[in-house]
Amino acid sequence: MNNNGILVVFTGASGVGKGTVMKKILSADPNNWLSVSMTTRVPRDGETAGVDYNYISVSEFEKMAEEKAFLESACYCGNYYGSPKAPVVEQLEKGKNVFLEIEVQGFEQVRELYPDCLSIFLLPPSIDVLEQRLRGRGTESEEVIQKRLNAALSEISRSGEYKYNVINDDVDRAVEEILSIVKKEKNK
Ligand code: 5GP
Repeated sequence: MNNNGILVVFTGASGVGKGTVMKKILSADPNNWLSVSMTTRVPRDGETAGVDYNYISVSEFEKMAEEKAFLESACYCGNYYGSPKAPVVEQLEKGKNVFLEIEVQGFEQVRELYPDCLSIFLLPPSIDVLEQRLRGRGTESEEVIQKRLNAALSEISRSGEYKYNVINDDVDRAVEEILSIVKKEKNK
């Protein structure tokens, strides 16, 4: 049994249900820890500062980037996102399974730094389901939905670069599959 933490890059197009899956992964095991990203995007209804994201201005983001405080960062649909480095390193040292819920450009940077990281891509059962979910959320304008749908399609085209692809056909089933992948990889 290996008690070291592992770094897990968890990617999925927006609308795929990543947030719901991630919450269940966290509540399944206190050893699972999610990195809270910094973003310049405005909070959505129902989101909490410090829990979903740390919301900062573009100049604050640029300052952190200059100070090399990010493990990785990206611009996605016109907003900046980044994972603060220090807490990730600290939690890995504590033996936690550290999850980074990030998009593909971020994954490219993380795999350079941590070639052994575990990478999981969460796929929708179909593109139609993804579009329905994006619209069903009802929090974004048509223009934003189109942008996110296009971004989703181009991200999905890169899912083959990830070690595992998991289909979110059923939330509990997808969560179980991810938990067993993490367990298996930890014990390697
Ligand atoms: P959303 O605006 O829907 O919360 O996130 C948009 C995309 O940015 C999602 O694919 C999400 O996983 C990704 N994302 C969130 N935080 C980070 C981060 O710190 N770095 C990177 N590279 N992507 C992130």
